[in-house]
Amino acid sequence: MNEHTEKYVKHLQGIVQIPTVSSVNDLHTDWSQFDKLHQFLQEAYPLIFEKLEWTTIGKASLLFHWKSAHPKKMPVLFMAHQDVVPAIHEDQWRHPPFSAAIDDGCIWGRGSEDCKSVLTSEMDAITELLEDGFEPDFDIYLSFGHNEEVQCVDEKKGSVLAPKYLQEKGVKLGCIFDEGGYVEEKGFHGNPTPVALIGLAEKAPNEYVLYKDGAGGHASKPGKGTVLGDVARAMAAVEANPMPYRLTPLVKAHLKALAPSQDKKVAKIYAHPKKHWDELVKLAKQDRELDAKLHTTFAITMAEASAQANVLPSHAEATMSVRILQGDTVESVKKYLESIMPCGVQVKATFAEDPKPAGSVESKEYALLTETIKEVFGDDTQIVPNLMLGASDSRNYSSVCDNVFRFSARLKTEQWGEAHQVDERMPVEHLDVPVKFFKRFLKKYNKGSEE
Ligand SMILES: [Zn+2]
Repeated sequence: MNEHTEKYVKHLQGIVQIPTVSSVNDLHTDWSQFDKLHQFLQEAYPLIFEKLEWTTIGKASLLFHWKSAHPKKMPVLFMAHQDVVPAIHEDQWRHPPFSAAIDDGCIWGRGSEDCKSVLTSEMDAITELLEDGFEPDFDIYLSFGHNEEVQCVDEKKGSVLAPKYLQEKGVKLGCIFDEGGYVEEKGFHGNPTPVALIGLAEKAPNEYVLYKDGAGGHASKPGKGTVLGDVARAMAAVEANPMPYRLTPLVKAHLKALAPSQDKKVAKIYAHPKKHWDELVKLAKQDRELDAKLHTTFAITMAEASAQANVLPSHAEATMSVRILQGDTVESVKKYLESIMPCGVQVKATFAEDPKPAGSVESKEYALLTETIKEVFGDDTQIVPNLMLGASDSRNYSSVCDNVFRFSARLKTEQWGEAHQVDERMPVEHLDVPVKFFKRFLKKYNKGSEE
């Protein structure tokens, strides 16, 4: 381990050991852990706290601002979140989840992957640039949310408050980096070339309820049926009538980029998806991931009606998780659902959010990103723009930035443990890679190229 990596390890271990678990109810969050984390960051990264302006946003989000002496272009912002999900089933872990033990070449612990290693790599990169006397001709921001892992109202969400704060100051950003994509060490189908996945958009997470009210009454006199039966028919209608497939520009670019690594038959379809539309549809029907990229999806996840078996329900409802694809809106999806509802079942959106526009593979920032990836990970790296199916904090920044890159520049190897799972862990060996990457990107962004 060289001297740099030793430092990265110490930093990551230090913050993994602080259990910054967020919860839906603020009152259940132990805020003293966030205070501890901030204290740790001050001690680990004194130069950042000394040279950058910083402020707390909302309850515990942090926003740092490196002001350029001669700003000539749009700022760059780096994101990560400070909070983690709980570590239940502690006894199943090989090492206690907040021990940050080093074993088998990895740091073990909740948050090591999601997403504290992103946070430390960004802080380490900025610190080293400060040490080097780097003079950017653009401003740099660091924005670390405190409640990414939980659903909460906008007034409390760090990732809503921070871009709002920037917007009020008239800040418009050139590009943003956040968690999401990484570089897969081994390519698809045993291909030895690495693959860089860059999230350029995500689907909008929504909740809709299908419901019907009725008279209720005694279960001995049901008549023709109950409102629960009608809601069940509505659920069946939803599953029988998925929204039609269509190709967004991002998904088209995604498939094109994947084509060279597929077998011959699939490669042909991916390279020209419109020409081979029927075959693409066939593939998508057997592939959940591809299916989700081609339309807004409905997942019926919860239902409720009467509280007792012998009471007719006076209200029945089914809740759906709806992931809206760019091109649809909360309203257009509601209209679609209403058009297929049987038996007078009604539809309402209970958690509503339109999808944010996708970033473009044509921007100069994207070109700079792909250039840097090839320099750091090798010229043969396959670069794949991606539509993320899950949601992240960064989608809320689209009001202040057109190029939101969900890309952490980490090298994903077989050693990685899964985020949110038992035995989450991060290999030590490649902790230097994102630091190197971010420094290089910023130097290239500066004055066109400085390398
Ligand atoms: Zn995360």
